[in-house]
Parts: sequence; structure tokens; C-alpha cells
Amino acid sequence: MRETSKRHLSKGKTIGLVPTMGALHEGHLSLIKRAKSENDIIVASIFVNPIQFGQSEDLDKYPRDMDGDMAKLKGEGVDILFMPEVKAIYPEGFSTYITVKDLSDKLCGAFRPGHFTGVATVVCKLFNIIVPTRAYFGQKDFQQTAVIKRMAEDLNMDIELIICPTIRESDGLAMSSRNAYLNPDERNAATVIYKALKTSSELIKSGNTNPAGIKKHMHDMLTAEPLISEIQYAGVYNIDTLDELNEFNKQNLLAIAVKIGNTRLIDNMPVEF
Ligand code: AMP
Repeated sequence: MRETSKRHLSKGKTIGLVPTMGALHEGHLSLIKRAKSENDIIVASIFVNPIQFGQSEDLDKYPRDMDGDMAKLKGEGVDILFMPEVKAIYPEGFSTYITVKDLSDKLCGAFRPGHFTGVATVVCKLFNIIVPTRAYFGQKDFQQTAVIKRMAEDLNMDIELIICPTIRESDGLAMSSRNAYLNPDERNAATVIYKALKTSSELIKSGNTNPAGIKKHMHDMLTAEPLISEIQYAGVYNIDTLDELNEFNKQNLLAIAVKIGNTRLIDNMPVEF
């Protein structure tokens, strides 16, 4: 991979990287389309990164669809698929990890200890191997984008990070590989996440000035859906620090993480005040 990248870079070509864990959907493909419009060479990576999964998480059953993924990547005109084996990325003796302090412990990090260290470490490795000019990430994983931006800035990485909007199903549910876990009733119930975000954003636009009231509105909506088995967080957060807000700023982040049955789903929506 590195030799291939070097060859392209030495000819003055730009490389756009789209890192994924596979089971590709329109959300992933939107990143690829954007990368394609801005770079000479497109690299997509598929790597289900074991170190970002907790012990009781879904590493073993994470959806995989190699044939479908290859067809989609070909269809989008991706030049290179980088699909390393786990032992190539984490050979015996591997012992260097990247931890982005503070940001990694909030929101999802509080429920997934070590997750963002796993993410930052593998993204750093992908950056070092592929040496992309630009790398593309989805806003759906907002905290992930914050952690990666921080890492790139702190470690002087010369890579332009492009954050792309969340792609949704027609009923608003954010596309996610994990949606495949949902049975039809759960899939139906999952629409409450987007509804809670959207109605909250409308309340703010129509003059609600109280983040605590918005948080209560979200919790009330989520609690009213019987198939939601756990609300991990739902509320209004500082878009830079990810701390919960008592007062709105100009830019704010509405964010939700819930479990429906055993499936953990997240979504967010930036709102101006
Ligand atoms: P994943 O395969 O879930 O690790 O996601 C790979 C990349 O696709 C990440 O940058 C995600 O944020 C992005 N992504 C996942 N779902 C969506 C979506 N619905 N809309 C836009 N980007 C997404």
C-alpha cells in the first residue's frame, strides 16, 4: 500500500482516503463520492478494527459483506481497496496507542472505555501507511471526527480532514451498518432517535432557550418508545468540548445514544442558536 501511495504521490497525484469497517451503505458511498470529486486517486479501507471494540461488544458479529462491498466500490470508481489483515496491523509485540485525552472520555467514550484510543490508533496507522492528501469522515460519528481532528492537529499531521453530512433513510434514521441488526419492530422504533433530534432542533429554532428543557423533551420522547432498552445519553452539548450545556452557544450539538434491544445506535444534529 505504501509503495503504491508513494508512486502516485511522486507523480504529484492527490490521494483521498475513506476509512471504513465495511458493510457499506449510502453513507459510506457519499464519502467516496466527495473524495472522488476532490482527489486523483481514491483509497477506501475496510478494516474491522478489533481494538476499538469492548469485550462485550459486537466484534464477532459485526456485519461483513465482502462481495457487496467490492461491487459498490467498483461502482463508485474507487481506485484502491486497502483491506489489511488484523495481524498485519497489530503484529505480535504491538504496543503503541494514541489517546486523545478529555474528548475521548465524554459521550460515547463514557460507555465505551478505550474505544476512541482504538479509533485514533488505527486512523493514525492508516494515515501513516496510505499518506493521504485528504481523509473523509462522516458527521454521524461526530465525536470520532472531533477526536481525529484533535489528533491530527496535536501530532502535526499534514492531512486535510473533510467531514461529510449524515446520510439518512427516507424516514430519517441515520444509515449505519448496525441497522442490519434491527428486526422490523426495532427498525420502526429506531425512527424515534431522528424525531427526537428534529423536534428538539425545531423547538430551539422557535425560541426555546433552555437546554435542560430540550434534554427533557428528548428523554420524554425516547422513554415513550418501549423498544428502547437504554438511553445512554441525550441532550445538548458544546460542539467543541462535547460538555453538556446549561446555556446555548451560537453553535450547539444535539446528540443521542440509545440501545434498542442489544443494538447501540447514535445520532446527532448540530443546531444554531
Ligand atoms: P464505519 O464503517 O461505521 O466505521 O464508518 C466509516 C465512515 O463512514 C465513518 O467516517 C462514518 O462516520 C461514515 N458514516 C457512517 N454512516 C454514515 C452516514 N449515515 N452518513 C455519513 N457518513 C457515515
